[in-house]
Amino acid sequence: MKILLMGPPGAGKGSQSERLVKDFDLTSISTGEMFREAYRNGEQLGIEAMTYIERGELVDDDITNEIVRKRLLRKDAERCFLLDGYPRTVTQAEALDGMLKKMNSCLSAVINIVVDKTAILERMVGRRVCKQCSATYHLSFRPPKVRGVCDQCGGELYQREDDQLESVQNRLNIYETKTNPLINYYDKRGILKNVNGMQSFADVYADIKRALRDIT
Ligand code: ADP
Ligand code: ADP
Ligand code: ZN
Repeated sequence: MKILLMGPPGAGKGSQSERLVKDFDLTSISTGEMFREAYRNGEQLGIEAMTYIERGELVDDDITNEIVRKRLLRKDAERCFLLDGYPRTVTQAEALDGMLKKMNSCLSAVINIVVDKTAILERMVGRRVCKQCSATYHLSFRPPKVRGVCDQCGGELYQREDDQLESVQNRLNIYETKTNPLINYYDKRGILKNVNGMQSFADVYADIKRALRDIT
């Protein structure tokens, strides 16, 4: 099963993918995570990517396509994967099509998590992430047991640089213009599945599972 998880920033992609990859034994491929990890490791790619990320802008298509291309060639991505946050532009979607075609493969389904703008702002401003394992929390909607500490690994929770209000606004605008056209792109192919993201974590998850019931 090769799935793409779509939705505006803050829709709940990361939260839902944490469970999906475990339950369906999928390899998680999150470009945002890959950039942040490269930055933490002091890699040139990460430092360059962070100059875009901090401002809430999209990283250059060529840079992004190249890290995904390399990632897809690894053995653990051969059979099943879940893409979170890639593609985000039509150029990237076309590049992904080309990569998969070369591998004699294609996407099984595109899950689009649909949420209101008001919920997005609330979700993003309250988001906290573990420095060590990247688990995601929310100050009100999913608080950790101990304030500032990850339930899963004891790591320190922090607010992402790009989750400040100004950057969030910019990311939403970019989503509207650059990423929204992808919904139509995948709908035309008949692989798009819309899921109502304005529900509890568990209900969103149940709807995603239902949408994937007949997918192999
Ligand atoms: P994305 O990866 O799409 O940007 P996240 O999964 O990081 O989104 O979720 C954004 C924030 O909203 C996080 O703080 C998360 O805990 C919270 N969140 C996600 N899904 C829900 C939900 N169904 N109800 C309430 N809060 C949610
Ligand atoms: P969110 O789910 O909250 O939008 P991500 O972790 O997916 O956050 O992405 C964080 C940032 O990383 C994006 O705002 C963007 O700057 C960069 N990024 C991630 N994926 C891509 C992509 N496919 N193309 C360009 N930039 C990307
Ligand atoms: Zn952790």
